[in-house]
Amino acid sequence: MEIVHISAECYPVAKAGGLGDVVGALPKYQCLAGHTAKVVMPMYRTKFLYNHEWVVDFKANANLGDWFFEYTIIREKKNSLGFDLYLVDINGLLDREKIYGYDDDTERFTAFQIAVVNWLASWEHRPDIVHCHDHQAALVPFMMKHCFNYRHLSRISTVFTIHNGQYQGWMNWSQSNLIPAWDEWKTGLLEWNGRINPMAAAIKCAEKITTVSQSYMEELFWDANGLEALFEYERGKCSGILNGIDNEIWNPETDTYLQSHFTIKTVTEGKQKNKELLCTQFNLDISKPLFVFIGRLVGEKAADILADAISSAIYHTNGEAAFFILGSGQTDVEWSLQQLAHHHKGIYNAYIGYNEALSHLIYAGADFLLMPSRVEPCGLNQMYAMRYGTVPVVRSTGGLKDTVVDMGDPDGYGIRFNHASVDDLVYSIGRGVSVYQDKAQMEKMRKTMMRIDNSWEATVQKYINLYQSII
Ligand code: ADP
Repeated sequence: MEIVHISAECYPVAKAGGLGDVVGALPKYQCLAGHTAKVVMPMYRTKFLYNHEWVVDFKANANLGDWFFEYTIIREKKNSLGFDLYLVDINGLLDREKIYGYDDDTERFTAFQIAVVNWLASWEHRPDIVHCHDHQAALVPFMMKHCFNYRHLSRISTVFTIHNGQYQGWMNWSQSNLIPAWDEWKTGLLEWNGRINPMAAAIKCAEKITTVSQSYMEELFWDANGLEALFEYERGKCSGILNGIDNEIWNPETDTYLQSHFTIKTVTEGKQKNKELLCTQFNLDISKPLFVFIGRLVGEKAADILADAISSAIYHTNGEAAFFILGSGQTDVEWSLQQLAHHHKGIYNAYIGYNEALSHLIYAGADFLLMPSRVEPCGLNQMYAMRYGTVPVVRSTGGLKDTVVDMGDPDGYGIRFNHASVDDLVYSIGRGVSVYQDKAQMEKMRKTMMRIDNSWEATVQKYINLYQSII
């Protein structure tokens, strides 16, 4: 089977969150399972771009509204990721340092999608599946089916995966000229609540819709940032497939970012060595249980309650726990988390920014990982934490609900709570501080978690079955 993945992110080329991890791993494991999977994404100015060799695959031009642009599609020469990787270069539009966050993101990603569909249209053969990820690739199913230029692609089956349903790529009707000419009878497919909604268009036009966990799929029927009724209407083609993790990258035995490696057998000593390194680097008391948070500092992750919850937990436990934050996002949240460091020297610190290497050291060295998320489609952090023997402390939502078993349940290894509130989080931190005193129980939980198989090998067949059902 030949599958083309279209995405704005792909690890290690460019990653802002879980989307990057998934698109960097799923195609690799699809290829290992005997299929041909390819990824096409924008060409940003990244280290990966400069450190690898490329060959030109396709050169053409297109229109974005009144703007005429030239683009080039290059392919990574050595196939170093285990699949064919294609980058779309559009001068002045895509070749920037950041992935998102520009005023012209709508134009950038619409031009990207036009270039990709033009490229697909130039192929001499047809792929079996075009798999689009999130709203930056969500106009593709509509374009392939209803734009005049691409009618011959209309019989290729498309799958749309929602990694995050909060962001839908809304456009005003005044921007409709950015989309190549389409059959006017089909205009309703682009529309939702009076605007052009690319995610809604993909839900209507793709043959199958998936999200990254079963529980998140169920949540979307009643809470989908305005799209609830649409999900209900399209229920028949929706399903949840839990993400896997790339066990080659996320392996405490071989992790290239770690100095001290460990296995299930050596987890206690191994984690201690990584904790020492982390605590020395960030001036934290190593004798205390270390609670960490890694992620985007935004409302979805309930990052706004962290500062209050940490202050309160320090007060209630008489300073018996240490905390470390790695993240970036809303300025006010960043500020409050930075301020806290002045008040709780030796038991609290924060690194504001994105740091892949540090994130690996944290998963390896921490005792507990906090995830009070309001919304968590799948969540990869808790799965990485588990692989590194770090106890996840999570709110019962989305993928967190599907992957973490509370330590109060048989064979449980995590801590779960119901509300994204300071009280629930402080109470759960208290449970963590108590269980930390019981060394035997901690070791048992660590070993149970590390034995869990959340690998892509176990998941990839579910996508293949889904594709087979629509080819
Ligand atoms: P989301 O995609 O919603 O941000 P996920 O849990 O699916 O959340 O994936 C988050 C990924 O991004 C994980 O690999 C996590 O380690 C990584 N990550 C998030 N923030 C940072 C950061 N500041 N530095 C390093 N890695 C980060």
